[in-house]
Amino acid sequence: MSVDVSVPLLQTTGLSVRYGGVVANDDITLRVGASEIVGLIGPNGAGKTTFVDAVTGFTRSTGGILLDGETVEQHPPHRRRHEGLARTWQAGELFSDLTVTQNLAVAVQRPGIRTLIADTLGRSTPPHETIAAALTMVGLDNVADRRPTELSLGQQKLVGVARALVGGTQVVLLDEPAAGLDTHESRHFGTELRRIADTGVGVLLIDHDMSLVLEVCDRLYVLDFGQMIAEGTPEEIRNDPRVIAAYLGGPDVPPTPDDERTLS
Ligand code: ATP
Repeated sequence: MSVDVSVPLLQTTGLSVRYGGVVANDDITLRVGASEIVGLIGPNGAGKTTFVDAVTGFTRSTGGILLDGETVEQHPPHRRRHEGLARTWQAGELFSDLTVTQNLAVAVQRPGIRTLIADTLGRSTPPHETIAAALTMVGLDNVADRRPTELSLGQQKLVGVARALVGGTQVVLLDEPAAGLDTHESRHFGTELRRIADTGVGVLLIDHDMSLVLEVCDRLYVLDFGQMIAEGTPEEIRNDPRVIAAYLGGPDVPPTPDDERTLS
C-alpha cells in the first residue's frame, strides 16, 4: 500500500500519549524519509499536534523515536532540536519589531548566561550563514532586513518555516503552517515545501487544507481518535472508505462539494 522508505530520517514505533483517560496517540508507527513530504491528517482532536509535541519532546510519550537511526525519546526538547528535529507551532507568530533575520536568530540563539552577557555587551553573533541558508531554502533571500509587517501573509508563513530550518535541521514538523492562506498563496507555499524537501530535509506536514496536502505530499498518514486508520499515497487516501468515513462521520455518507471536510 505505501511507498517504501528504506532509510527513514524520522521513525516512531508504537508511540503513545495519554492525557488522563484520553489516549491522544495510540501506538503510532510512522516514517519520514529524506527529501520526503509526508502528510499527517485527521479530523479536529484526532491527535496530530499531540504527535508533534511527543516527537519533539514537549509532551511525555511511550514508544520509540528514532532520528536518523539514533534513539532520541529520552532527550529533552532543546537537545532534539540541536540534533536536527525542528517544529513549528500553530500560533507561530513572528516578532513584529524584529527583522526577518533577527526573528531567525532568536530561534537559534542558545539560552544561557553566555548569550545574555554577549547580548548585553552587544557582542552576540547570530549565525548569519545558517540564517541566510534557511531563507534561501524558502526562497526569501530578498526580505532578510524587512520586518514581518512588510511581508505578505504567505511570506510570513514561510519565515515561520525558515525559523525551524535554521541550524542543520534534518526533519521539520509543520503544524498547520499554511493556515489562513488563500488558494494562490497555498499553492506557492506547497512549491516552496517541495524545494525544502529537495535539499534532503524530511518534512511532516499537518494541515487542514486538503488540496495542499493531497497535492504536495508523497505519502499520508491519517489519524482518527488517536489511532492511525490509514496510510498511503494521496490517491489511496483520497479513495479510502475509512478516511472518508472519519472525515464525514459515517461510511454511507458520500462527500459533497459543499462539505468542508471533503477530501478533494
Ligand atoms: P486539531 O486539528 O484541532 O488541532 P489535533 O488532531 O491536533 O486537533 P490534539 O490537539 O492533538 O488533536 O488533541 C488530541 C486529543 O488530546 C483531544 O481529545 C484533546 O482534547 C486532547 N489533548 C490535547 N492536549 C491535551 C492536554 N495538554 N491535556 C489534556 N488533553 C489534551
